Formats: sequence, structure tokens, C-alpha cells
Amino acid sequence: MAVEQTLVDRPADAASEPALVALVRSAVAEAAPPAAAPAAAGVPLYAPRRKIYPQSVNGTFRRIKWAILVVTLGIYYLTPFVRWDRGPHAPDQAVLIDFSTRRFYFFFIEIWPQEVYYLTGLLIIAAMVLFLMNALAGRVWCGYLCPQTVWTDLFQMIERWTEGDRREHARRDTQGWTAERIARAGAKHVLWLMIAWWTGGAWVLYFADAPTLVKQLATLQAPFIAYAWIGILTFTTYSLAGHMREQVCQYMCPWPRIQASLTDEHALNVTYRYDRGEPRGSVKKAAALRAKGQPAGDCIDCLQCVNVCPGGVDIRQGPSLGCFQCGLCIDACDTVMTKIGRPTRLIAYDTDVNIKRREAGLPPVFKIVRIRTVLYVSIIALVAGLMLYTLATRQAEGLAVIHDRNPIYVRLSDGATRNGYTVRLLNKSLEPRRFLLTGEGVADGLIEVVGDTTSPMGYPRVEIGPDQTREIRVLVTSYLHLPPAASIPLTFRAIDMETRRQAAATDFFKGP
Ligand code: SF4
Ligand code: SF4
Repeated sequence: MAVEQTLVDRPADAASEPALVALVRSAVAEAAPPAAAPAAAGVPLYAPRRKIYPQSVNGTFRRIKWAILVVTLGIYYLTPFVRWDRGPHAPDQAVLIDFSTRRFYFFFIEIWPQEVYYLTGLLIIAAMVLFLMNALAGRVWCGYLCPQTVWTDLFQMIERWTEGDRREHARRDTQGWTAERIARAGAKHVLWLMIAWWTGGAWVLYFADAPTLVKQLATLQAPFIAYAWIGILTFTTYSLAGHMREQVCQYMCPWPRIQASLTDEHALNVTYRYDRGEPRGSVKKAAALRAKGQPAGDCIDCLQCVNVCPGGVDIRQGPSLGCFQCGLCIDACDTVMTKIGRPTRLIAYDTDVNIKRREAGLPPVFKIVRIRTVLYVSIIALVAGLMLYTLATRQAEGLAVIHDRNPIYVRLSDGATRNGYTVRLLNKSLEPRRFLLTGEGVADGLIEVVGDTTSPMGYPRVEIGPDQTREIRVLVTSYLHLPPAASIPLTFRAIDMETRRQAAATDFFKGP
């Protein structure tokens, strides 16, 4: 049942559900800051989990969350089916992590294992974006975008749909296992498991051609590993989003602790404007105080902000690790304020600085440009710029050389010195290519590819298929009289015989 329909007119409603209100009040009292409680022996270190029945709510932030939920889940479930034509020699799935060829495809980008530094760049950008979000608007990631939040929101929607809204659900839970309750709970768990299964199913589609894997899964012909991963992700989604919910945010996730140490007084956070809300009291009491010209706060202590909170937090007690700043308490309180004819945003995105400024009678200030935000944006721009530059100028060919460790050199019977190398050639283009392999540095160095009979004279030619690597054994022989313990820089060069594009790598030619 939506907030508008329930406890807004508190005295009447409170009478209709005294047990529930008492429950919430005791929970709120339990969550009070420990400074209020004596540090006596016998106070348990572990408090049993209290079941939370978050009430549905309507409002701006709820609508934003629904929109984000639809967009993010749509992207997650549908992306594996998006096609991207890369030609006949590469898969046409737009986003694909292909372990068989060790490639990551992302639309027009193809990342090779040697280019894992792009992943490092992405991780740095992700961390900086998270820090920037935090500097601007607190735990906006947690409240709106985190997968735990999105799936929990979805699971709670199903729970309300099957077991009823807060009051109805809580009442049923006190009535024992009736047939109706069993049917409703059963329907909820079946739906949860279906979503969890789809979530795991969508995940494995990122690692193989999605339409093919769907057919294989449906006909039980998919590899065992696919079923195993679907099983694991079904279990984790069902447990984390269905059962553990706010516990994940409060106890398992490190971000709340990191976030708390990164925030500052200019960051927007969901805040109870105590300067406006206190002293709290009923509508009648507040009206009487105002009539006498005495101060009265706008908070009517209706607990709607607590009732809708998925974390069971009372935001009026100040910042809390349990608050992941979803903004739903803002919607709930706005509804209450509208009903009692007081200005909205008693709970709002606000900064510590502005609360103090308002108390001092000063206008609010919003300082977006600060040292930390400039720093985060600069790092993001720098890393993104570097990645874009390297992507734009990356070569479609590559060469890597490793000198033989043992023996380092060989003296031939005719007095020549021979060194052996393992050379890996990369062809990142989607066409087959032929390369001429040359060596520079050893004046008379003769280069041979072991097993190659196609180029007996001159430099060896090496063919590589599209989007492939090829490892070859290369011998370099010199008849020069080398100085003792010679170590001569030797540059290998692979030159495309059609385009003349080339890749080079340097090692050493060792003498006796
Ligand atoms: S802050 Fe708003 S929603 Fe919360 S108890 Fe006060 S009036 Fe009610
Ligand atoms: S206190 Fe408000 S913003 Fe924080 S988690 Fe609860 S409903 Fe969301």
C-alpha cells in the first residue's frame, strides 16, 4: 500500500496498527546511537536480524529508480543478443569474452591478452568515477546503480506483489502458515528463482555466441561449465537479492566504509534537515506551539521515512552506514509534508555546510568545483585520453622475441656462431597476412625459420591467419669474429609484404 494511503494522518492510523508502530518505534530505539546506551557488561555484541518490511512509496526518486532499474536490467539481459559485423573471420556478437581465442570483443574494439592494460585503465576510470560520484552526491552508486540495489528492488517489488505491502505482509507473518500464506510465499520464491536463473543464464551468454548457447542450454547440450555457472549465479542472486538484501550493504560491501572516509562537508547526501524538523511533534502540537509563537518543527514523527526505508534506517538520527541513499525517505516525507500543508524536502539531498549556513541565516552554497572533484576529473580525462590514443594508434601487427636460455649460443663446426630465438608474430587484422622477417644489428646475420622450406634464400616469409598469432623458432647465424662475451643488439622486424606496415622487437646476439 502506498504511503499516501497509510500513516499520513498519524493519530488515526497509529491506532489502527499499534503493534506495527510499536515494532517500528522499538526498532528505531534499538538503532539509536550507542552513546545513549550504557556500556554495561551483558550488552550483546550481536543483535539478531530484524525483518524489514519496506513500504511502497511514490515520488520523484522512486520514479528515477524504476527508470534506472528498467534501463540497467534491459542492458544486462539483452546485450548478449546484440550483433556487430566484424567480417567472416570474427564472431558477430557485440560484447563477447571469448576464452577459446582469448579475446574480448566490445563493439568495434577487440582486446588481446597482451593488451590487458586496457582493463587496468578501465578499473582506474571506474574507481575515479565512483569517487567523483561520491564527492558530488554521496552514495548515489549504492542508491541507484549498484547491482545489489537494482536486483533487491526488483525482488522487493515481487515480494509486495505476491505477499502484499508492508502492513499486509507483516500481519500475515504473525498469523502462522495458513494455506494462503504458503501459496503466496511459494509464488514469490518461484518468481525469485526464475529471475535468479535468468540472471545467471544471461551472464554465461557473454562468454559464448548467445543464440547458439541458448539453443544448447534448451536442448541440454551446453557444456557443463555453463550449467555450473548458471547454478552458482542463480544461488547468489537468490540469496543476495532475495534474502540478504540490506545485510550485503551493511556488512559485506567495503564501499560504505571507504565512502565514509572519502566524503566531505560539500557532498550532497540524503539528509534530515533537523534545523527545520526539530522539535518534532504531532500536527496538533506543532500548530498549538506556532499559535503561541513558540518554535515547532515540521517533523510529525509519523515514521513514514523509516517505514519505506529498505535498510530500516531512521535518517533523522543522522548519517549512517546503513543508509545507502536511495532517496525513498525523501519521497515518503514529501508526501507527508504535502498532506499536512508544510513545505516539502524536510528530508532532502543536502550538505553539512548548508545545514550550518541555514542555521546561521546564510543562503546555501553548492561547491561542485573542489580540489578533489578537479583531481578525479583530471585523472579520468588523462586515463581515458591515454586509452583512446593507444586504441586509435594501436598496430594491427605485433612481434615478441625471447632468446633461448640454454644454450645461449652454439659454435658450429665451420666456426660460425648461432643463436636461437622464439618469435611470436601477431596479426590483429581480420585478413590473412604475409610478413617478411628481417634482423638488423648483426652485420652478416643469416636468419632462418626452423622448418621453413619456402624461403631458402633471403629473409624468411611467414604467413599468419586472420586474428591469429604464430610462434616460430628462429636461428640467426654469424660468421664474423665476435669479441669475447659479445652481446650485440639485434632487432627483428616483421614487414607486411602488401601494406609494408611493420612491427619490431629487439633482443641480443650472444657470442662465446
Ligand atoms: S521526517 Fe518526515 S516522514 Fe520522517 S517522521 Fe518526520 S515527518 Fe514523518
Ligand atoms: S534512510 Fe532514506 S535514503 Fe537512506 S536507505 Fe533509507 S530510505 Fe534510502
